[in-house]
Amino acid sequence: MKLQSRLVIGFLIATCITAAVASVVGITMINKSTLEEVQRKVQQDINTAKLVYRHNLERLEYQLQFIALRSPIHEAITSGNLSTLEDLRVIIRSGTALAPGHMALDMLTLVDTSGRVIYRAANPHAKGDVILWDSVVRNCLNERKPKSSAIVMSYDVIVAQNPNLSERVKIPILKTEKSVEIKEKVLTDGMVLRAAYPILDRNGRLLGALVGGVLLNRDYDIVDTIKQTVYLDERYHGRDMGFSTIFLGGVRISTNVMTDRNERAVGTICSKEVYDQVIGRGKDWVGRAFVVNDWYISAYTPIWDIDNTIIGMLYTGILEAKYRDMRLRTVFIFVGVTAVGMVIAFFVSFRLGQSIIRRIRILHQATEAIASGDLGYQLPPGRSSGFDMLDNAFNNMARSLKDRDERLQKAFQRITVTERLASLGQMAAGVAHEINNPLGGILLFSNLVLEEMDPADPSRQNMEKIIYQTERCKKIVQSLLDFARTPSGDMSRLDVNHVILTSLNLVKDQSIFHGIEVRTELADNLPPVMGDLSRLEEVFLNLFINATDAMSGRGTLTIVSRLSGTGMVKIAISDTGKGIDKAYLPHIFEPFFTTKDPGQGTGLGLSITYGIIQKHGGFIDVASEPGAGTTFTITLPRANGPESEGTGKPQEECSIG
Ligand code: ADP
Repeated sequence: MKLQSRLVIGFLIATCITAAVASVVGITMINKSTLEEVQRKVQQDINTAKLVYRHNLERLEYQLQFIALRSPIHEAITSGNLSTLEDLRVIIRSGTALAPGHMALDMLTLVDTSGRVIYRAANPHAKGDVILWDSVVRNCLNERKPKSSAIVMSYDVIVAQNPNLSERVKIPILKTEKSVEIKEKVLTDGMVLRAAYPILDRNGRLLGALVGGVLLNRDYDIVDTIKQTVYLDERYHGRDMGFSTIFLGGVRISTNVMTDRNERAVGTICSKEVYDQVIGRGKDWVGRAFVVNDWYISAYTPIWDIDNTIIGMLYTGILEAKYRDMRLRTVFIFVGVTAVGMVIAFFVSFRLGQSIIRRIRILHQATEAIASGDLGYQLPPGRSSGFDMLDNAFNNMARSLKDRDERLQKAFQRITVTERLASLGQMAAGVAHEINNPLGGILLFSNLVLEEMDPADPSRQNMEKIIYQTERCKKIVQSLLDFARTPSGDMSRLDVNHVILTSLNLVKDQSIFHGIEVRTELADNLPPVMGDLSRLEEVFLNLFINATDAMSGRGTLTIVSRLSGTGMVKIAISDTGKGIDKAYLPHIFEPFFTTKDPGQGTGLGLSITYGIIQKHGGFIDVASEPGAGTTFTITLPRANGPESEGTGKPQEECSIG
């Protein structure tokens, strides 16, 4: 796979994983906190619902108290004249409609102290029965205190109280798959809010009790009040947000949850799970619940009667759709942000990959250039490429490679020159040695022949020429022997500056130095070197004369001495002469190499110089620019042993043999 694709894919995978993890964690957390928040709200709602329910019970009690105080009930009981109670009939309502603040009951009964019915406002003909089966009545008479509670009454009992209620009590049961099992097809019981108020005479003696009741079957007053109080009739997408229900057992008897036909879902049944928890175990149930036709975040709480028996449930619920949509929106936002992040990551990684690859290509080119021998190659400065460190490292490497290569080449040149000169020197020495003796013989016998010759002999002149040329040959042979010869053995500690100055003194007054400016820059901290004074003088003389030859009577001769970084003594002799042709440079130290006219130079000066310096353990280098001048640099090792002031004069005690 291409590097760029790998970079892009790597980037995308990293972004994907991060985004996926962030999304999952984020969505889970938001879902959880939303659900917790909604459940807390539903819990609060059910508490408010309980308050509304209790308020209705209390209101019933107050209504009875009001009636007891305002109506001539005392007289009716004591005198037995029930006609005065006829007015109470107006309190019995005909339907469930109720003007606000208006008192309206479904049942109103006056009983004596034994619980026997004296007067039944909604059914005046039915009287004389004892209603102590009603715990509310029983408790009220026993304790002489007002009592109230919801109770369950059977159809017959309810109808006996108020015949008009027969229609409202019966509720057809609408079973669904999930609902708890209920055998009956029609609910015949009713849940009644019951209250009893004790009637006492002036002495506090119990005369009886006023008993009131409101049938909750199909009475929507409480649930609608809860809905208004808790949900403020809030709507979501045209649907009511919150609902409330009163259950008798598991059957809805009063609710504002609507069926698909937009009727109140009276007669529908709760789920088994809810039934078991609330009716079975008497605990609240809070959670998601499928109610009639949609999901609601719901809360159910048990309704107890006065004997602490669970008779039904109170329910509040919020439509889950709003929170579901909120959750969906969150997911969409997360997914959207992730997608946008990935697109950005793709472009960023693509651009980044491109720039990295571009730079790698440049590096590749550079390494190829270096591999092909272009050691001077340097990377161009990248515009904010971020690769400065790499570029610098590469450039440094290239520079040090070049440096090392140059030094290697120099060393190699020096070695080749040394080797060549060494073999040349050996050969020259061998030849010179072989020729030296015969030349000695020729000279000896030529001189003998010349001595015995008659002065007038015409051959005498020829003989003299033979002797002259033979002597010249002998001189050359002697020079050749010098080139290969080891120093004479007069080695001593020498001050190089002193040797330079004495050599200069020997020649500076000669005619060839006229018109030549001589400059000396001699370091005064030089350590002594171990050397042969006369031979080193020979070296400097040679170099001075060559320099003046090259300048042909005009120019500057500069002599510099200094201590090198490695502790060696360096002497540079520079001229401003004609310089040396590049092609000649490798050969100038070879014996007999000369560019001078025949008879002008032997080509032995530099080879002898080279031989002497080498025998001193040093080396000589040349640098020349044709037309500009030449510099010979001699490097000599410092003398070993205890340091003492170099005098330039041989120090006998240090000489080696
Ligand atoms: P010779 O001086 O007899 O020619 P050398 O060995 O001293 O022999 O020099 C060899 C050659 O090196 C010279 O012929 C000359 O071409 C060249 N040479 C030496 N020194 C210099 C210099 N300072 N400037 C220019 N060329 C030089």
